[in-house]
Amino acid sequence: KLNSAIVGLPNVGKSTLFNALVDNAAAQAANFPFCTIEPNVGIAVVPDERLEVLANMNESEKVVPATVEVVDVAGLVKGAAEGEGLGNKFLANIRECDAIVHVVRCFENDDVIHVSGSVDPVRDIETINLELALADMAQVEKRMAKVNSKRGKSEASADEVSALQKVAAVLDEGRPARGVDLSEEEKSALRPLGLLTLKPVIYAANVSDGELAEGNSYVEQVREHAKRENAGVIVVSAQVESELVSLEPDERKEFLEALGVTEEECGLRALVRATYEVLGLQTYFTSGKSETKAWTIRQGMKAPQAAGVIHNDFERGFIRAETISYDDLRELGSEKAAKEKGMMRSEGKGYVVKDGDVMLFRFNV
Ligand code: GDP
Repeated sequence: KLNSAIVGLPNVGKSTLFNALVDNAAAQAANFPFCTIEPNVGIAVVPDERLEVLANMNESEKVVPATVEVVDVAGLVKGAAEGEGLGNKFLANIRECDAIVHVVRCFENDDVIHVSGSVDPVRDIETINLELALADMAQVEKRMAKVNSKRGKSEASADEVSALQKVAAVLDEGRPARGVDLSEEEKSALRPLGLLTLKPVIYAANVSDGELAEGNSYVEQVREHAKRENAGVIVVSAQVESELVSLEPDERKEFLEALGVTEEECGLRALVRATYEVLGLQTYFTSGKSETKAWTIRQGMKAPQAAGVIHNDFERGFIRAETISYDDLRELGSEKAAKEKGMMRSEGKGYVVKDGDVMLFRFNV
């Protein structure tokens, strides 16, 4: 199960965002009885307008969206890497996650105290990144010492040794390891270390309601910084999202119109989609009378493995998959029309599933 960690300094809007994500899932899908798995672990729904189209086409009784798990990592502060207090626990929390959503305060509000006294997103980003880099440096140094010892020498590959050196040089400057140019072999050699700053990151620039449409200069600073790190930026207003959750659809529309944005442009949806993508995930669909469902697979998975996500038996007994792309199906209007036009493909074991494929598996039991 892939998941993402929500990190950031205290009072930047992490919990507000986390709660909006979880409440949104609860509001959208009655079939997630455990939207909050633990107080700080929840489920977010991956928005996908294709689901409604398919459900309407097939008059499905139920619609089941894809989900990702999110973890609210509260309490990451200066000094966390020194293992003071709960620091270590928070870092361990992040280490178990596959991607990072880094919330950055880009809103002014004198009523909300900033831990460093003023709003300065780049300073905040660097504060957090420094903690993560220090924690990684400790891991890397420990590993290097092992590899350089008499007994450790034989177990380290040349790739690992070169990767450790490259990464150490960057971490030493307090910068994230994800900026380092590593070969695929070097990356996989480092994987067991679970380095925090190698995980993909998305910066969530948290703005006030009035600045959701246009952004502000803080957002620009975040963008500049993210560009250097090759990271994505999503503008979101945690406060707006937390208010949206309790509104009826037409009230939502009115509320958003007043702010000058549409639901699609609104940050939360974009944020979850972006997270899904940096996790290397994609969607295929099954659709029929009883339900239309989005299934989550890793990019590059072949048809039998994709079938295995539904049930082990589907993978074991896989014969072939009746497949059509969502775009073709929508254009043709129905499966019947697709079949008549010869647009339904019968794909075998070697087929690499594409995002948006609508599939029906044939298998032996
Ligand atoms: P955390 O410590 O990072 O989890 O931050 P919280 O989510 O608890 O938010 C801290 C305070 O900032 C709360 O009083 C929120 O209501 C407020 N806040 C969060 N997001 C926004 C926002 O987008 N705009 C404004 N004006 N206030 C916000």
